[in-house]
Amino acid sequence: MKLQKSTEEELWALLKECRICPRNCGVDRLAGKQGFCRAIGKEIQVARTALHFWEEPCLSGTAGSGTVFFSHCNMQCVFCQNYEISTQDIGQTIDVDRLVEIFFRLEEQGALNLNLVTPTHYIVQIVIALQRAKQQGLSLPVVYNCSGYESVSSLQLLDGLVDIYLPDFKYYEEQLALKYSHAKHYFTYAKQAVQEMIRQTGIPVFDSDGRMLSGTIVRHLLLPGQLEDSKTVVHWFAKHWKDQAYFSLMSQYTPLSWVESYPELNRKVTQEEYDELLEYALQMGLEHVFVQEGEAASESFIPSFQNQTLL
Ligand code: SF4
Repeated sequence: MKLQKSTEEELWALLKECRICPRNCGVDRLAGKQGFCRAIGKEIQVARTALHFWEEPCLSGTAGSGTVFFSHCNMQCVFCQNYEISTQDIGQTIDVDRLVEIFFRLEEQGALNLNLVTPTHYIVQIVIALQRAKQQGLSLPVVYNCSGYESVSSLQLLDGLVDIYLPDFKYYEEQLALKYSHAKHYFTYAKQAVQEMIRQTGIPVFDSDGRMLSGTIVRHLLLPGQLEDSKTVVHWFAKHWKDQAYFSLMSQYTPLSWVESYPELNRKVTQEEYDELLEYALQMGLEHVFVQEGEAASESFIPSFQNQTLL
């Protein structure tokens, strides 16, 4: 199903029986019903809008990435680093026109790009907002920064609107996806999603200052004790996409208070674990890998979402 040219009316209709993501809830969000992500209505809940300096260097640069952190989430991982906004009703409720205004505020502040964080469940509102913003002259590269648990038919709505995809590729093993994210067939959906993202963006393009203009960066967060699953993810990436996309190996997993019931997750990743995975990635022939420095593995790296005023 190709919905790229849908009218706004057709786009809103998708929320009447929401199957935007692989959760496939089928609820009428326009009538106030909540599915797994708990987003309702035509409105959007936004937790934070700000320049952000801790993305990959080609995205943050020195000016910062213009982030919009959306509240709620279609994943809700038990170890989520942004748990307060993925599971609680933190954030301000705004409409599409206000979202467009925020896009332009971030552009005025000198953002290198527009970075839509945890956007999946608001894809309808985002498509409408981007269409309106681009008609009004928005020229920033648009980054779609997501969990990887996406439906290809929904991603096709973004074709021509998004310049850079920044998906997680969290798990290979189904049991891990079920245990930590309750996400059935995560790997199958994520691999189809990344394939579609690469199809849309083509191989990465940078400007003369090293800023990314278009392309796909696949992120993987190493979890404590899950080195073997991470190696399988790296192996998959190397085999299928290493010449078409960049890979970002993330080490900043921070155990927060809500993982206490998962004792195996209640520690940081060791330097030895991270080094072994990085070595493996190099053995697999990955040349385009973003590596995180140790100081990123800190709770202070996680922005606060309490009492935020939107731009
Ligand atoms: S976007 Fe939300 S309501 Fe729609 S299918 Fe996904 S989890 Fe369910």
